[in-house]
Amino acid sequence: MSEPLAAEVARRRTFAIISHPDAGKTTLTEKLLLFGGAIQLAGEVKAKKDRMNTRSDWMKIERERGISVVTSVMTFEYGDHVFNLLDTPGHEDFADDTYRTLTAVDAAIMVIDAAKGIEPRTLKLFEVCRLRDIPIVTFINKMDRESRDPFEILDEVEQKLALDTAPMTWPIGRGKSFSGTYHLSDNTIRRSDAEEQTTSVNGPESDAVAGLLPENERKAFIEECSLAMEACRPFDSQAFLEGHLTPVYFGSALRNFGVRDLINALGRYAPPPRDQIADTRKVAATDEKMSAFVFKIQANMDPNHRDRIAFVRVCSGKLQRGMKARLARTGKPMSLSAPQFFFAHQRQLADTAYAGDVVGIPNHGTLRIGDTLTDGEHLVFKGVPNFAPEILRRVRLEDAMKAKKMKEALAQMAEEGVVQLFQPEDGSPPLVGVVGALQLDVLKARLEAEYGLPVSFELARFNVCRWISSADKAELERFVTVKRGDIARDLDGDPVFLASDGFSLNYEAERWKAIKFDAIKEYQ
Ligand code: GDP
Repeated sequence: MSEPLAAEVARRRTFAIISHPDAGKTTLTEKLLLFGGAIQLAGEVKAKKDRMNTRSDWMKIERERGISVVTSVMTFEYGDHVFNLLDTPGHEDFADDTYRTLTAVDAAIMVIDAAKGIEPRTLKLFEVCRLRDIPIVTFINKMDRESRDPFEILDEVEQKLALDTAPMTWPIGRGKSFSGTYHLSDNTIRRSDAEEQTTSVNGPESDAVAGLLPENERKAFIEECSLAMEACRPFDSQAFLEGHLTPVYFGSALRNFGVRDLINALGRYAPPPRDQIADTRKVAATDEKMSAFVFKIQANMDPNHRDRIAFVRVCSGKLQRGMKARLARTGKPMSLSAPQFFFAHQRQLADTAYAGDVVGIPNHGTLRIGDTLTDGEHLVFKGVPNFAPEILRRVRLEDAMKAKKMKEALAQMAEEGVVQLFQPEDGSPPLVGVVGALQLDVLKARLEAEYGLPVSFELARFNVCRWISSADKAELERFVTVKRGDIARDLDGDPVFLASDGFSLNYEAERWKAIKFDAIKEYQ
């Protein structure tokens, strides 16, 4: 292992932000980028917003519904570290995109609205993180507003997520009186009006703290803060890295307070790029040989170019512009002539990317979600999962003459991860599956705009879909034969069982004990 490579890998932090809509993810993202110097002037923040509006105008649906379909990655440096922040769509209708993005990160920031606590989408996203024991740093946001008792929020995290908490800071005041944080481990305070400044104090009862609070809140603060110091768990790096414990910070993204704590915590505690499991071996991030996998495909990033970008997470070695990589699925070489880095407001050709980095590779449909690229070695990464769709529809084509074109278009959309495609064993027309209803609108709009195929959707008699497998091959074959009318194949030819509802799924699962019904399928 060469020294420069190891050092470059060690300073990378690749993370995402998970939260319920409105908790403050966008605001926090902007503030993180400000810290990172990715946006230096306030004017640029606005410029970025303007640009983002034009960029995301590519899809009418997005404008009409006022949500952002565009997901991207933002790379920035702060201190000694290079951060890759993988943005996830805020709207739950694009959940599977978000889930896949979470397979490409090594850590996550969980943003919780201090007035609301754990909300449904936070819970769901946390569960996806837990599948891989991703370490989580928690940010209790909006402390400048009416909020719940901090102990109650910590308790809720512990109860609802089964995740231990270690408060690192304690809010000095709440709502109108929120004026800073007390750092529990070293008895320092930071005032919200002078965040640059850290002041040492003699404990929660010191005058410097009291001076920040209205008289009637002082006693309660001293009690709370002392209790937090005595009774709460101390931070334990090992438990954090294993995904069992989360350090908790309080702040206000809007007022840009507490954000520095988060970025420092990621640098100090979050792991560098993790080892990745491939079919033939475990790949260490510091391996000399380049390897990477595709976790996201995005079409039409730039309306003028109608390009398609595969987002690739580098897992080991160095990805260099101009190198020839091997695409594992086809065994064919692929020239990486224009890999790109994404910054807050621009793209730039990436000459060299290291493990942990995410680069965009423009292509014309060669790359699929889950694809592995190497510098020649025969290996395939496991790990970009497929989540069972929650909505299934038959696609009805207005013009029956275009059936072949439609088949191709649907396969392409499925390869991009816009929808999942299932071909029933009995030869009936294909079904598309999505996690959120809005994806159907995206499919419809894109089939029309890009392929000239006007379509509509019909209800299918199925609403539930599970991948089936069994250690007993004969039993699986028997099941597939007996249930032929309820079996379909996904894009890779793997069988799924389709049921009208959860009740009939459970009924069959009871009867066919040797068959495994999975709601998640790992790619490849
Ligand atoms: P997202 O949906 O999670 O991306 O949330 P946004 O960042 O768009 O924030 C939702 C709303 O909450 C916006 O009106 C923000 O201005 C507001 N907001 C975000 N952070 C804070 C905060 O710390 N304090 C207050 N008072 N408002 C906030």
